[in-house]
Amino acid sequence: MSAPQIVVIGGGPAGLIAAGRAAEKGARVVLVEKNQTVGEKLLLSGKRRCNLTNAEEDMDVFLSKYGPNGKFLYSSFAGFGPRETVSFFQSRGVPLKEERGKRFFPATGGSEGVLAALLNYVREGGVTIYRKRESLNLEIRDGRILRFILRGQEVEGDAFIICTGGKSFSKTGSTGDGYRFARRAGHTVVPPVPALCPVRTVEKWPLASRGMTLRNISLTLWKNGEVESQRFGELLLTHFGISGPIAMDMSKEIAGAMKTGSARLTIDLKPALSLPVLQNRIGRDFEKFSGRKFKDSLGELLPRGLIPAVLALAPLSEEKIVDSASNQEIEKLAELLKSFPLTPDGLLGFDWAIVTSGGVALKEIEPRTMRSKLVENLFFAGEVLDLDGPTGGFNLQMCWSTGYRAGESAADFAFLR
Ligand SMILES: Cc1cc2nc3c(=O)[nH]c(=O)nc-3n(C[C@H](O)[C@H](O)[C@H](O)COP(=O)(O)OP(=O)(O)OC[C@H]3O[C@@H](n4cnc5c(N)ncnc54)[C@H](O)[C@@H]3O)c2cc1C
Repeated sequence: MSAPQIVVIGGGPAGLIAAGRAAEKGARVVLVEKNQTVGEKLLLSGKRRCNLTNAEEDMDVFLSKYGPNGKFLYSSFAGFGPRETVSFFQSRGVPLKEERGKRFFPATGGSEGVLAALLNYVREGGVTIYRKRESLNLEIRDGRILRFILRGQEVEGDAFIICTGGKSFSKTGSTGDGYRFARRAGHTVVPPVPALCPVRTVEKWPLASRGMTLRNISLTLWKNGEVESQRFGELLLTHFGISGPIAMDMSKEIAGAMKTGSARLTIDLKPALSLPVLQNRIGRDFEKFSGRKFKDSLGELLPRGLIPAVLALAPLSEEKIVDSASNQEIEKLAELLKSFPLTPDGLLGFDWAIVTSGGVALKEIEPRTMRSKLVENLFFAGEVLDLDGPTGGFNLQMCWSTGYRAGESAADFAFLR
């Protein structure tokens, strides 16, 4: 008797590791991918350097990064968590190194090396990859999936794993098809929204400073006059507003705040200095630059390109000589640097979002197996699920953990039948 067949839909990180693991457990595995090449989004990850996991060792802290849904991941992380991910890739010829923010990257080879290791894994298990084969629909009978309908072909199996990703960066192949398959199987889909996404602002001054990175600043989100969220780190100014790690990480909250109230942002350009200390510092700089214009006296405090925007908002004439600055003007300038205002005007959208928030509702999935509670031979893994995390390797780790678990439990299920 031949081994049972597992069909994996989608050849991203979740699908590749699920396919490899199911094959390692002895199943025959078919991986269906609509692109000519697998892992297109994986190749782009981390600017092609691939931040594939995070070195945070406290599991509670790690899982809290995914918000309240993180507790769904306890079981899959216990089986194949960050530590197992590191040893999986190291043992497969991808040495890793830890960088700022506990981020793990390949020491050499970037995302190409990560994809090559995964392709070796599926090759070792004899996984058959159907490339350029789009899944269109699925056929269910008596609470079981019989087959997936591909363009011009059908594929039958004993168990099916949907790993079609979210609907962001759709040019990589993730166009939200998995949500349609999940709904067809009776699942609830939490409405997908862009996450880790650049933010458009009403103010146009970032345009003049586009490409500039503001380092060691803090960004505060205010909703209806109350602090909603705060991040410290790097902010990138762009032609449409703001991007970079802290803006992206806060984007989901910004969109939420805009939906339910009035949202505004402030940048503390000098978070290490209290307001009185900053006032003194500006006063000292103005004494030092006596006889010069305002625009030429702030260069030790601020990046050059930001000075015109700061002076325009103060408002202070760029041409005025600093010696004439009043205490009140210095006070106002210090207040502005501690609370530089920006008004969010929405997120840039799915085509710019690093991940999708929302997806297949977790209450209908068994966390120990990734199996559907509604259709006995259906499993899910990766970003198609209602799970997303911040930048730092958290999104790929979720794919490794859920994919590995889905692969092994789909194989266990199929062998027991
Ligand atoms: C620019 C960018 C940088 C990123 N950097 C990082 C990073 O450094 N670290 C990190 O942790 N995360 C990063 N991410 C997020 C991470 O890449 C994703 O979370 C991850 O790729 C999701 O994996 P997945 O397997 O669930 O889905 P995907 O990678 O989206 O793969 C889904 C696959 O399914 C295929 N597919 C879809 N529909 C069908 C269908 N109907 N039939 C057949 N095949 C189908 C698609 O073609 C695709 O190959 C980044 C994302 C982007 C866009």
